[in-house]
Amino acid sequence: MTPGRPVPPPLARPALPNDAVTDPAADLDTDPGTGLLAAAYGAVSPDGGLAPLTLARRAPKADDVEIAIEFCGLCHSDVHASRGEWGNQKYPLVPGHEIVGTVSRVGSAVTDFTPGDRVGVGCMVDSCRECESCLDGLEQYCENGMTGTYGAKDSRNGDAITQGGYSSAVVVDRRYVVRVPGNLDPAAVAPLLCAGVTTFSPLRHFDVEEGDVVGVVGLGGLGHMAVKLAKAMGAVVKVFTTSEGKVPAALELGADEVILSRDKDAMAAADRTIDLIIDTVAAPHDLNPFFRTLRVDGALFQLGMPSDAMPPVNPGALIRRRIAYAGSLIGGIAETQEMLDFCAEHGVVADIELVRADQLNEAYDRMVAGDVKYRFVLDTSTLQAPAEKADV
Ligand code: NAP
Ligand code: ZN
Ligand code: ZN
Repeated sequence: MTPGRPVPPPLARPALPNDAVTDPAADLDTDPGTGLLAAAYGAVSPDGGLAPLTLARRAPKADDVEIAIEFCGLCHSDVHASRGEWGNQKYPLVPGHEIVGTVSRVGSAVTDFTPGDRVGVGCMVDSCRECESCLDGLEQYCENGMTGTYGAKDSRNGDAITQGGYSSAVVVDRRYVVRVPGNLDPAAVAPLLCAGVTTFSPLRHFDVEEGDVVGVVGLGGLGHMAVKLAKAMGAVVKVFTTSEGKVPAALELGADEVILSRDKDAMAAADRTIDLIIDTVAAPHDLNPFFRTLRVDGALFQLGMPSDAMPPVNPGALIRRRIAYAGSLIGGIAETQEMLDFCAEHGVVADIELVRADQLNEAYDRMVAGDVKYRFVLDTSTLQAPAEKADV
């Protein structure tokens, strides 16, 4: 680890074959073919839960990949969004941005994917492709705003609102599609597309290496991936949890130590022991006790985005140890592929519980109650057949 390094090394330029050569006019020359009706599950209002819907998916354009979705992970962000907790949500909304499936059709300019390939799609399906962030492989920080996989205006597709992976099919530009390594269980890979890369990115940003001490706050979907990835990078991992019942499970996952974050003595004993904290808590909480567990030049990355305000950060806690308080948003496309390849090499996948479509509402309630080890994944073969007419 390079303590306190303020700027990350540039990520590898995304390996996007044909990036420079694709003629935008190619779209116009292509036979648009026909779109399809996809089965889906989504929300029609903030408080009505999820119900069956039928989506119209566009016909693949020149650069598009049509994917028959097999699995989609359930992220806590899906709960925040579908329940309108982040405000300003458009409905109907089909959530889901941890997508794994097989390619069913490709557009005329696609040479890097062929039907039958197993692929993944994460949290974004487009970005401007021109700004400094996009050109640096940091599409998630696109200066013009990335296009999220669901609930976002898709400016290259008639300003349609994107609809996510709780669905039987999706059509995505090839630049935002990644390859799923063949040696990993595809259902357990799905959560890597968000929870995996969201925790991999800050671990890499701070160059975590053998012997570094990484703290993980909150043992849910993101948190358990942070534990597995940090261990695979050679770190010593300390888990902070509010749930006493998760202690044995955290140790089983590979944590070297588990600290009950509401236990003041246990927190005091952890004073100045940690280099980097990955905080994945989905609700407002006081960060100041966690800053006290960091060494000089330590850093805390907050990944959770609670809908309500957090208690104020004490500047003195940061200043006295030159601590960095940072945030981090998912990861770029090249970094997502790098993470998948890293997971393939180290045999890392998520611990999952497969759910049927008709269990989605119950799964949301269980996720909010912290009753999941550690990621629900929708088996899309349990979706109803699409209706004859699209709802969206
Ligand atoms: P999750 O599976 O529900 O895990 C969240 C964990 O937070 C829980 O398991 C729990 O761990 C802890 N927690 C403590 N108090 C809590 C409370 N009052 N309510 C809920 N959780 C509490 O959620 P996730 O899918 O990992 O997502 C975590 C957060 O990251 C969400 O806010 C999500 O929107 C956000 N997120 C951010 C990004 C990004 O790019 N930055 C990407 C994906 C998700 P313990 O029981 O161990 O205390
Ligand atoms: Zn997510
Ligand atoms: Zn951009």
